[in-house]
Amino acid sequence: MSHPVYGRIEGAVVLIGFGSIGKGTLPLIERHFEYDADKLVVIDPDPATHTFLAQHGHRHLQVALTPENYREVLSDLLGGGGFCVNLSVDTSSLEIMRLCRELGALYIDTVVEPWAGFYFDTADNAARTNYALRETVREEAAANPGGPTAVSCCGANPGMVSWFVKEGLMKLAADLGRDDPAPTDRDGWARLMQSLGVQGVHIAERDTQARRLPRPRGTFVNTWSVEGFISEGFQPAELGWGTFEPWFPENGHRHDTGCQSAIWLDRPGAATRVRTWCPTPGPQFGYLVTHNESVSIADYYTVGPAHAPDYRPTCHYAYHPSDDAVLSLHEMFGSGKVQETHEILDVDEIVDGIDELGVLLYGHDKNALWYGSRLSNAEARKLAPYQNATGLQVTSAVLAGMVWALENPQAGIVETDEMDHARCLEVQRPYLGPVEGHYTGWTPLDNRSEHFPEDLLPETPWALKNTLAN
Ligand code: NAD
Repeated sequence: MSHPVYGRIEGAVVLIGFGSIGKGTLPLIERHFEYDADKLVVIDPDPATHTFLAQHGHRHLQVALTPENYREVLSDLLGGGGFCVNLSVDTSSLEIMRLCRELGALYIDTVVEPWAGFYFDTADNAARTNYALRETVREEAAANPGGPTAVSCCGANPGMVSWFVKEGLMKLAADLGRDDPAPTDRDGWARLMQSLGVQGVHIAERDTQARRLPRPRGTFVNTWSVEGFISEGFQPAELGWGTFEPWFPENGHRHDTGCQSAIWLDRPGAATRVRTWCPTPGPQFGYLVTHNESVSIADYYTVGPAHAPDYRPTCHYAYHPSDDAVLSLHEMFGSGKVQETHEILDVDEIVDGIDELGVLLYGHDKNALWYGSRLSNAEARKLAPYQNATGLQVTSAVLAGMVWALENPQAGIVETDEMDHARCLEVQRPYLGPVEGHYTGWTPLDNRSEHFPEDLLPETPWALKNTLAN
């Protein structure tokens, strides 16, 4: 595999956070960009990071960014411009992004992250949604258009999956015998999705990565940030709310300000199961964990006014994490307390499995198309160091977003739906393993038990009422 150098980063390269994603992103930055090595700094409060970085000749600033210190710390480093790559938990994406733009530095993150405390100390559930977090960034973008590029939410999901939606739509159009040109703006993409009859999108993921040892009781095991997964898992379930939905959940809540593309449910996402479909398992349960892309995709593909759209797709995450993570959730919700020991499965201890992450475009004349990456841990190990398959799907999206930002340095604050998906996937694809489309005739009405009659909506197979599993 050749490693193209995509450009030169002038000024400092500042990585915030050196967990599973930061550690996997650094070698891709080294591989694919030119920059002044003495201007690369990693900020992370974890002392364990220090040894690793010292061994590899990188500068480490062992500090936790806080509302009190971030301006001073980052202004010192990025005062002369550069690129800030925020891959931490517990730091405010909005405030760091705003500062970077003031300083003339490029910025990228993988999630709209709040300062420490937000996820568990906020009493009002509506205020704890990703809708609310995303609106803060959209408001900042609207109030300050243009200027230095800040890419918001550019990981695998949110991130890459928005590019898959576009490739999936073009594939569906071709397979339906149509010859639509690729749209060139948001309105064109939304009208294409509408005209193809797509009712909604699951971000449908199955992670089968496993290690040889069984999960020890009392340990939360995941293939990426345990802290990140627990935080989002305890946020209310949330989804983009499509115009085709014939029924509204009793515990559902709408928003009356902002883009109004999403609703939230009065229960934690990681305790809310939905029926979905992925190529390896076929039908499966996934968790309706809130994610930024559920809101942004439903917003991007809206036709008509926000409060009364002519068309909008339903969009939500349907996540089957690794089996160890499923057991960890089961134990956590059952015991009512978060495990004290956290482990992220390391690339070298995983003995089998893939992360199958794609978009399931449903409700059209071909029923449903899953389109996505089926990257195995074994292949990830060959492609890049220090990361499992899940990590590489995220870090390669960060790489693609950084390339796009360098090539479009004055684009203002953008989300991945608004970026050139073809260019981004061109950069990312060498790291994704097989990227495939699979059609299925399955719908959420299939394989229901006759012994336990349910109140379903047979006329609308993909309605949330049929998809929800509890
Ligand atoms: P991790 O838990 O492995 O690492 C987080 C790192 O942040 C740790 O090293 C920690 O010490 C550091 N940190 C904590 N507080 C900090 C502070 N105040 N200042 C600076 N650093 C601090 O997490 P990860 O798996 O590397 O994930 C990193 C981020 O990426 C998380 O926000 C996660 O939600 C996000 N993520 C996004 C995607 C996606 O596809 N969009 C996928 C995976 C992870």
